[in-house]
Amino acid sequence: MRTSPLHAVAPITTAAPSYLPQADEVSLFEQTFAARLPLLLKGPTGCGKTRLVEHMAARLGRPLITVSGHDDLGAADLTGRFLIEGGDTVWVDGPLTRAVRSGAIFYLDEVVEARKDITVVLHPLADDRRQLPLDRSGELLEAAPGFMLVLSYNPGYQHLLKGLKPSTRQRFVALSLGYPEPQLEARIVQSESGCSVEVAQQLVRLAQALRRLTDHDLEETASTRLLVMAARLQAGGMALPQAARAAVIEALSDDAQTLAALAEVQHAVL
Ligand code: ADP
Repeated sequence: MRTSPLHAVAPITTAAPSYLPQADEVSLFEQTFAARLPLLLKGPTGCGKTRLVEHMAARLGRPLITVSGHDDLGAADLTGRFLIEGGDTVWVDGPLTRAVRSGAIFYLDEVVEARKDITVVLHPLADDRRQLPLDRSGELLEAAPGFMLVLSYNPGYQHLLKGLKPSTRQRFVALSLGYPEPQLEARIVQSESGCSVEVAQQLVRLAQALRRLTDHDLEETASTRLLVMAARLQAGGMALPQAARAAVIEALSDDAQTLAALAEVQHAVL
């Protein structure tokens, strides 16, 4: 089977990657899966959407196929295409088709980045039909029982033209995740990095101070992911201020003035 750099297949593992829930998202995911409904995850980058899906796939015993949305990703990249092999034309399944056939969880990250023609293949899979029409090969596939469609997007970071269409949104059960509340976020940072409780708490305080900024120059604010990266650097021996500067502050902007302002915030907290 060919593999494409566009997608990654995670084998079924017995140990689910650690996920510390913010609320009832684990049971909501389980119930959505049991009801054979598709799920839309909304939330800022680095807040735990991908980790939740990885955790749930392992928990539900389903293989996980992940594709990241980008502006060149179209329907054929998901469904498959004919390729010439040794003079023959052969059909090669794309990642979505493989998930539909094998009953995997298919996770399309940052769906609004992808080309609009993907809705043609997602809609019939997202409603009661659970079907995937393969126009090019003429097949109409019924999704295997364990198949689940999960999309994610970041509602806060969007092009006016790139919002999710109501006709797509209304086919999905939706779950919003934000950044975890401070105590939980500190536990996550600590368990993901092996840093001390104190360091985790300091990084969370920094994140809270940065998140309070309403600077329009910032497209994104300090995410849990950035805190985990800083904590890993610190746990590996780097001084905390350097680790926070490299992993958190520098990730938020390229503008010298903005960086100086963010560094001031860091200085006041760490
Ligand atoms: P997103 O998909 O929302 O961009 P991720 O799921 O990749 O974010 O989360 C980034 C990192 O933050 C993860 O790799 C993990 O280390 C950590 N993380 C965030 N939320 C949680 C959580 N609830 N439990 C465990 N780890 C988490």
